Amino acid sequence: MSYLQFLGAAGVVTGSKHLINTSADSSGRNGFQVLIDCGLFQGQKEWRERNWQDAPVPAAQIDAVILTHAHLDHSGWIPRLVKEGFHGPIYATPATIDLCSILLPDSGHLQEEDADFYNKKKVSKHSPALPLYTLAEAQEALQYFKPVEIEQNKQLCPEISFRYVRAAHILGSCMAEISLRVDGTTRRLLFTGDLGRVRSNGAAPGKVLHSGPAEGETADLLVLESTYGNRNHPKDDPRPQLASIIQQTVQRGGSVIVPAFAVERTQKFLFMLKELMESDRIPRIPVYCDSPMAIKAVEIFLKYQEEYSEETRQLISKSGSPLQWPGFTFASTPEESKKINASYYPSIIVSSSGMATGGRILHHLAQRMSDPKNTILFIGFQAPGTRGFAIKNGTSPIKMFGQEVPLRAQVVALEQFSDHADPPEMLEWLRTFKNKPRVTYLVHGEPAASAALRDTISKELGWEVKIAEWMEKVQLT
Ligand SMILES: [Zn+2]
Repeated sequence: MSYLQFLGAAGVVTGSKHLINTSADSSGRNGFQVLIDCGLFQGQKEWRERNWQDAPVPAAQIDAVILTHAHLDHSGWIPRLVKEGFHGPIYATPATIDLCSILLPDSGHLQEEDADFYNKKKVSKHSPALPLYTLAEAQEALQYFKPVEIEQNKQLCPEISFRYVRAAHILGSCMAEISLRVDGTTRRLLFTGDLGRVRSNGAAPGKVLHSGPAEGETADLLVLESTYGNRNHPKDDPRPQLASIIQQTVQRGGSVIVPAFAVERTQKFLFMLKELMESDRIPRIPVYCDSPMAIKAVEIFLKYQEEYSEETRQLISKSGSPLQWPGFTFASTPEESKKINASYYPSIIVSSSGMATGGRILHHLAQRMSDPKNTILFIGFQAPGTRGFAIKNGTSPIKMFGQEVPLRAQVVALEQFSDHADPPEMLEWLRTFKNKPRVTYLVHGEPAASAALRDTISKELGWEVKIAEWMEKVQLT
């Protein structure tokens, strides 16, 4: 019997891991076993603890991994899988491999920092607290990555082949179209990974990449993400609002502080600032991009010009590399970061982490959030329980570096920057399918979001839609 098993991102938006096992024969021998994505559980403790559980299949018995994109909730468990004995190929697009080469070691570094923190505070019940994997172990795992170009056919074993098609979510992101040959028939399984916005439009501007997931798909079984299953993105262009937030802050003599993830979101925001400056809609004040990863992330983006949107292509051909833009400063060392703290001239400071849970953004917030002249601008999702969530909701004071810091700065959130399709966009994409999948499983969503999307798709398209459950097995023959 061949089966698919949901090992993560079922009932939750993190920990994406889906296992295909081709028929186990009567001798009890396992078939070929391939994992689609190998992500870290993040967020609530109940889920994070699953990062420490053994995989239901011993790592050494997994034959291959197919990775849809570089985000840690899809890739961040790979170093642990390797640590536990997996030594097979990890297939990914070249851009995904480049992004993983900065994200995974950084994740290892953060795991080590967390373990150190718990050991110093002696608050862990494990003594000593250990990292899930180290920076060195993450680097070690990179040797197993094997590049697969978009739309190239890759045969994994006699029963399984796959092909990447664009998901338009982040640089290098793809859906995996899998052909599974069982008992003389071929079944098509489509895993969306995360699905990007449908086509460029005024409501999702500033997209660095060309948008729109590949259309005209066919699938017998579809595994679809549902992050925004119960929410529609605002449809208005954020640029006029962004310009007026910046103008008002500068008129008060203040600065704009922007917590943003260093990869993708920061690039998108910098491109929008440059465009607003070039069209004289905002003053040319200094822009500081304070993240050790941001320079590497920009360099990776410059390598993949074929992925640019038309507006990005035009901006780069006119203005060159963001690393050379006058007035834009990229701080990589702690000393460069400290210099930004010393500046009181109105400026825009973009730094990570995106939810203010750690990183250099904390220094900028601690220094500037008690001054009403300044603005704190959120351009990304803030998960409940994070410092970013508390600030976005006006909580004051906020505890940082052991001190209570009052929140007096203006707080604004722009919700248009999402890289996930919302329900109307998903329907628009699903309507391009050449066939009606026999069954669709929803993953990567909070329960309410998945339930809402299931109802929308069943009602609008008449498809059979189920919500994947953690550890559930689906027979494929
Ligand atoms: Zn993602």
